[in-house]
Amino acid sequence: MPSTAPHFAIAIDGPAASGKSTLAHQLATRLGLIMVNSGAMYRAITWQALQDHIDPSDHAAVIDLLHRLTIECGDDGLSSTITLNGCDPGDALRSEAVNANVSTVAAIPEVRAKLVALQRDYLTRTNIVMEGRDIGSVVFPDTPYKIYVHAAEHVRSARRSNMGEIDSVAQRDAADSNRSTAPLMVAPGAAILDNSHHSIEASVLAALEILKQQGLAV
Ligand code: C5P
Repeated sequence: MPSTAPHFAIAIDGPAASGKSTLAHQLATRLGLIMVNSGAMYRAITWQALQDHIDPSDHAAVIDLLHRLTIECGDDGLSSTITLNGCDPGDALRSEAVNANVSTVAAIPEVRAKLVALQRDYLTRTNIVMEGRDIGSVVFPDTPYKIYVHAAEHVRSARRSNMGEIDSVAQRDAADSNRSTAPLMVAPGAAILDNSHHSIEASVLAALEILKQQGLAV
């Protein structure tokens, strides 16, 4: 396990469309941290596999792709950025095809090992708030700052369609929760924040209160 000193990580986990990104962005802005979107990393590998006509369930082919790719993870001063062989996939990361295949790619242990190393690397450079599925359980299990964000399924589906996205959140959650490597779970020590009926501001205030109770100087 890498040393977390002198930087710290806030781990935000939860199912699809639970409001993790919005909350993480707000916390990053208010606390002066870099927001790291770990889902974008899994989406980027998926996007590249689809570009290269690789079947996402063909583990050997995806692993081979991984070996051929130069993945660069950085930040723009507020949020994480990612390029693959120098190319920024941009909005393509949120396409229907990527939504439909990302959980398959994310279940491959070698993909996770590679991306978890890149995720941990952020902490050697800066203080972060990282959102994903396994941040509090696998990526930074030792951080005391952990929140599991939840919202009712119909609320989450409505959020996605309001964004104009076609995304079967229930299917993705089932795949993410049932995989054998690093499944979506409430990490030991995480506080649960149900934001089904919260405004963004109410969620942020609730999160700040949780983090204060977990010992963060906010
Ligand atoms: O957070 P987002 O919905 O963009 O994540 C896309 C997908 O990436 C998830 O459905 C999941 O399969 C995968 N993921 C993961 N572990 C993470 C972040 C995302 O497996 N830490």
